Amino acid sequence: YRAWFEKHTAGSRATAAEAAAYIPGGVQHNLALNEPWPLDVVRAEGPYLWDVDGNRYLDFLQAGGPTVLGSNYGPVREKVAELLAGCGPVTGMLHSSEVRLAKLIHDFMPAVSKFRMLGSGTEGVMAAVRVARAYTGRAHVIKVGGAYHGWSDQVVYGLRIPGTGSLEATGIPEGALRLTQEVAPGDLDGLRERLVANEETGGTAAVFVEPVGPESGTHLVRPDENARIRELCDEFGALLVFDEVVTAFRLGMGGAQGHFGVRPDLTVFGKCVAGGYPAAGGIGGGDEIMGVLEGGLTAVGKRAFVGGTLSANPLSCVAGYHALAEMDRTGAPAIAGRAGDRLCAGLAALIARYELPYVTYNIGSIVHLHTSGVLHLSLDDPDFFTELGPRTEMLGQMSMAFSAEGLITIAGSRLYTSMAHTDEVVDDALARFDRVFARV
Ligand code: PMP
Repeated sequence: YRAWFEKHTAGSRATAAEAAAYIPGGVQHNLALNEPWPLDVVRAEGPYLWDVDGNRYLDFLQAGGPTVLGSNYGPVREKVAELLAGCGPVTGMLHSSEVRLAKLIHDFMPAVSKFRMLGSGTEGVMAAVRVARAYTGRAHVIKVGGAYHGWSDQVVYGLRIPGTGSLEATGIPEGALRLTQEVAPGDLDGLRERLVANEETGGTAAVFVEPVGPESGTHLVRPDENARIRELCDEFGALLVFDEVVTAFRLGMGGAQGHFGVRPDLTVFGKCVAGGYPAAGGIGGGDEIMGVLEGGLTAVGKRAFVGGTLSANPLSCVAGYHALAEMDRTGAPAIAGRAGDRLCAGLAALIARYELPYVTYNIGSIVHLHTSGVLHLSLDDPDFFTELGPRTEMLGQMSMAFSAEGLITIAGSRLYTSMAHTDEVVDDALARFDRVFARV
């Protein structure tokens, strides 16, 4: 497969070679794994990407998840262009699109009566930690092991392994880690024990979960798990925070909270909330808790400070508002979900036909395809670090094989479908997966 890249991606190779001189590691983000070198993409539309050398790819990365309508969706782009011709991307003043976006989110999610737009999912999580601490007056935060909540000190995964030299613990002081504890996925007894233990030292401010399970369901949540975590939070007075950076509007307009029928105290947003445009993040909740972010400059007590120069910029809000309205009108989450079902069923049939030791399953438009073994890595496993190296290498190899067959995936192990992934597109993809699987 490397030979394919050598023959067909000379332009990308040249860009990547130059990037290595000016950008650490040669890439600004690493979602696609970029073996043997990153592709320089010049055009995106619906389910397709084109690189600088003119190769077309079926796109299941979908920018990492924000594009349930498909990439570069025309009607949203037109609204953004209108805005740019008017006030430009940002003024620092109020814009009606901020209000329309917040109101629309409230229509979809009754638990979110107030919404604060921020610049990324990571920022949303940081804000949620702060609001929860300010509101409850408590310091401890609990998260589920393996869950990804962005890269802030408080919640980056790998928490239990400071000093091991692991990527996720490097540069984070012990003090920052001490107030955040991890529990194993699905271990409700462990969660209770943790909540009880924290009572000794002031109690737990919040429990953070990815409502489909850690890492977008790499450890799949059990059907009643969110409801039981809700009960435990109520019992101990901790806020339940749903990190819906991936799931909000992708699982349905009501997000995972609508899907599971569980009402969180705080919801973290990212990705879809800016309709596939940059600066996508936010936090929402009920009036009382979100009241922590209110108050004039003289307010004292519980008021917490969050914000930023580009938070709630009109560009992100216009894109977010029109994308969400369009997703609601078209039923995009359900259409994307059916594409995910079709893709997953086809992949399962291929895995069975070639008797491969792979696993595939989907939660609507979030499709998992684990081809590299060692699926349920646990931080408690003494082999954690020895397993991780070969796994990453295998993921890189699979990712490269898929790309050479014209399939862009999320790090070779996950795929997002969108409304643009028609039956024809999915069947085309399956034919390409067939060619990879026949070779491996
Ligand atoms: N939470 C979850 C569940 C995520 O998947 C991500 C990003 N993939 C984040 C938070 C961080 O969001 P961002 O990359 O916008 O900072």
